[in-house]
Amino acid sequence: MIGAVDRISHWIAGVEFSGSGARRAPVFNPATGEQTADVLLADGEDVDAAVDVACEAAGPWGETSLARRTQILFAVRGLLDERRRDLARLITLEHGKVFSDALGEVARGLENVEFACGIASHLAGRYSEQASSGLDVYSFRQPLGVVAGITPFNFPVMVPMWMLANAIACGNAFILKPSEKVPRAPMLLAGILGEAGVPDGVFNVVNGDRVAVERILEHPAIRAVSFVGSTPVAHHVYEEASRSGKRVQALGGAKNHMVILPDADLEQAADAAVSAAFGSAGERCMAISVVVAVGGSAGPVVGGIAERIGRLRIGDGLDPETEMGPLITAEHRNRVASYLDGATSQGARVVVDGRSHPMAGGPGFFLGPCLIDEVTPQMDCYRDEIFGPVLSVVHAEDLTGAIDLVNASQWGNGAAIFTRDGGAARRFQHEVQAGMVGVNVPIPVPVGHFSFGGWKQSLLGDAHVYGPDSVAFYTRPKVVTSRWPDPLWRAIDLGFPEND
Ligand code: NAD
Repeated sequence: MIGAVDRISHWIAGVEFSGSGARRAPVFNPATGEQTADVLLADGEDVDAAVDVACEAAGPWGETSLARRTQILFAVRGLLDERRRDLARLITLEHGKVFSDALGEVARGLENVEFACGIASHLAGRYSEQASSGLDVYSFRQPLGVVAGITPFNFPVMVPMWMLANAIACGNAFILKPSEKVPRAPMLLAGILGEAGVPDGVFNVVNGDRVAVERILEHPAIRAVSFVGSTPVAHHVYEEASRSGKRVQALGGAKNHMVILPDADLEQAADAAVSAAFGSAGERCMAISVVVAVGGSAGPVVGGIAERIGRLRIGDGLDPETEMGPLITAEHRNRVASYLDGATSQGARVVVDGRSHPMAGGPGFFLGPCLIDEVTPQMDCYRDEIFGPVLSVVHAEDLTGAIDLVNASQWGNGAAIFTRDGGAARRFQHEVQAGMVGVNVPIPVPVGHFSFGGWKQSLLGDAHVYGPDSVAFYTRPKVVTSRWPDPLWRAIDLGFPEND
């Protein structure tokens, strides 16, 4: 404790580590606007210290049997389950999302640990006996060594778990660089992993900003980088990590469309749109930020959403009555609010203006839910990722027009359709250019035994995150071709070996 605020350091070799401690950043409770902590911002030497420790730990950990690694992962699962409320509370205190939503975040992160508990079967190779005469061929996967993850502010626990569960289960040492806005929950995660038996140095946390990121991207001992954050930073990470020869997956921003056909249950669709647009104050990469109202659905959909928005309870996420919390910082709140002026001047109709909500004037970083109708693809509120409680409604004449609109977007994370027409839904899922598609499901985040990832600007690289893709991402394949010949067999053959 330093005066009234906590000091948050790094986690290296199983203990808190202050390193140079020269730079720091404030951490806020967005619901009150108060600074609650100072987080140390790592410099290059701090990252190097973490990498040195991780390099030492990676060798023995990679040699640890699958049986032992699995036992440790089960222990991690058990402790995380016990501590889920503690993690959720820290998420709410630093991010602002409501406590039940934070609990949901932890639960979705736990799915990744549960998948990783089956690492023995995920890593099992293939064996082809007698692939050629007297010759067997088999394959298996081996860990990369030291890998790193760089994560955003909006999921302080779940996104790190998307990466670390499988990275560690596969036998790597992991360095996490969380968002400097939400450092507490990742530090608790580190303590829990250590308590569960993950050896010191296998999981490390380096708090920091772009300085730490740059060192991670250039450090020669780091073999792979997983990044989740905004699209401009994703591009930078992808280019720099590739330049230094690393494997990289960089998940970027999003603008997710929800297409509502006139035959849908419009009451259910309005409920889903409000839940998916305003949950976590719109600070979700899979939030619905655009409703595409097709044909006659527009009037009832806009009316239904506006009416529901009026009833949402806004406040501190620790209050069980609250349905929507604040935004992450005052600057972000002001940036989000600025899109309302832009929308009006560009010809859209602001149906609900969250700036006039009573909470928007307080010390916390609040903005009420906002609804903008008659939006067109040329407007800034449509083109930009706003990442706040602002829902735009675009009108389309028919399903073809709706699909064309979604496909013209630079992003392709999630896309959803609401309809009772199976043929229309099937056409949508086939033609839409997005990595994750919902049919009457507004936020189609795949379960932990599938993989998560968008198309276009929403993901740079080949591998999606978590699930089977991440087992491949965090390992290298090896194929062995083996013969145990009869000791009497003798032959010299300079030709290229043919299989027979
Ligand atoms: P951000 O890009 O600002 O930060 C992400 C990470 O990069 C943080 O750890 C941050 O410290 C670091 N960083 C920030 N600026 C940097 C720079 N110039 N150079 C190097 N590193 C830098 O993102 P954010 O505001 O924390 O998170 C919100 C964004 O993340 C949104 O765009 C959202 O769509 C995206 N996101 C995407 C997914 C997905 O799965 N595609 C999931 C969650 C969030």
